[in-house]
Order: sequence, then structure tokens, then C-alpha cells
Amino acid sequence: MSQPILHMHDIGRTYRQAESELRVLSGAQLALWPGESVALIAPSGAGKSTLLHLAGLLERPDEGEIYIGDLPTANLDDAERTRLRRLEIGFVYQFHHLLPEFSARENVMLPQMIRGLSRKVAHQRADEVLVYLGLGDRLTHRPAELSGGEQQRVAIARAIANSPRLLLADEPTGNLDPRTADHVFDALTHIIRVTGLAALVATHNLELAARMDRRVTLREGQVVELD
Ligand code: ADP
Repeated sequence: MSQPILHMHDIGRTYRQAESELRVLSGAQLALWPGESVALIAPSGAGKSTLLHLAGLLERPDEGEIYIGDLPTANLDDAERTRLRRLEIGFVYQFHHLLPEFSARENVMLPQMIRGLSRKVAHQRADEVLVYLGLGDRLTHRPAELSGGEQQRVAIARAIANSPRLLLADEPTGNLDPRTADHVFDALTHIIRVTGLAALVATHNLELAARMDRRVTLREGQVVELD
């Protein structure tokens, strides 16, 4: 039986500030299935980053449970959460965050070596993924020698280098011109289809969101389907 890769169940998250409390998520539910791409479209301040950070096990909810596959994560300790994040979850941000002194290939090798793979295996896999994303002639370039779209494709390659089951992206094309955004988005949706990973992508770009399987927004702390 197939099951969701990510299941956020009854999630509550409140930020406590000096004088006040801000309830960002309240009873939020979200399930992502293998091979499914979901666009998260909501105004600034609605809680998109909070939802992505929770899904990525970077923050803990105040209420509810987050399952990665069939594994509940609320009671895992930090080391177990980090391990799960490294193995199962890839992140793509608005700004690529590539390491400037390393080549494209090395940037994609690093997360694999941190995971414990040999240099040789990581090298081979990095080249495979970068070639797949159309960067075969950019393997030894450093980020500064790459265009914005190329940098973002390297960031996607890095995110999927460890074959995660879940990809989380926060405005991955927000920093690119429309044509380049289109190109990077194609690469992203292609990867989702062929690998069967599930992706949650926060974006303001409605045209790109329309090309994903589902669209959701955040309303009064809950995840609501659009369309
Ligand atoms: P979005 O990504 O949709 O812009 P966020 O998830 O970043 O929204 O933030 C949702 C709300 O929570 C905002 O009002 C923001 O100011 C607030 N917020 C986010 N992180 C914190 C924090 N660490 N402490 C206090 N308030 C926060």
C-alpha cells in the first residue's frame, strides 16, 4: 500500500514574543504522496516558511505529529532528526547557498560525503545528476562562474544528491528572470516525475504553480486546497 511521504497531522505552532503570542498554524493538515508536486501559495507572513521548516524537521511543532513515511518524528531526538533530514529531505532556497570556493561538482559531492559515501561514489553521482540537469559542461565551475539559473540547478542537484524522498523548496525561482525561472522549474518538475519524490514548493509565481499537481494556501493557520 502506498502511503504519504510527508504527513503533517493537526499541526499547531505559536511564536511567543515578549508581550504577545502569534498562532501561525492551528490544526494544519497536509499529506504529500510519492511523485506529487504541491505548490504553496500564500501572502508574506502567512506561515509558508514555518510550514516548510516544520516539514523539514528544522523546527518542532507545539502540537501535532509529523510523519516521514510511517515514522513519527515528534519524539525523535535532535541527532535522529538530523539523520532523517540528511537521508530523506532535500532543500532548495531562493538564494542558492552554494559554497563559493567549491566547484559545482564538489558542492553536490559534499552532502553525500557528509552522509558517509566515498569520494568516488559521490563524484560519480554528482556528475550523473549535474549532467542530467544539463550542467555537464559546468562540472568544474565555481558558483561565481555560473549564471543564476545554472547556480539554482546546481542547488537542485545538491538537494537531490542523496536521493531524498521529500523535496522542500522556498521560492526556488524567486530570484530569477521569467525565462530562467521557467527553465529551472522545468528541471525541478522533471526530477519530481522521474524520481517519484514528493515536493512542496512555496512560490509566488502562479504560472509555475499551475504546472504542479496541486495548489494549497494557508488560511487561519490551516492548509487549504486551492482551485
Ligand atoms: P511566510 O514564509 O509566509 O512569509 P513565516 O512562516 O516566515 O511566513 O512567518 C509567519 C509569521 O510568524 C510572521 O508574522 C512572522 O513574523 C512570524 N514569525 C516567524 N518566525 C518567527 C519567530 N522565530 N519568532 C517570532 N515570530 C516569528
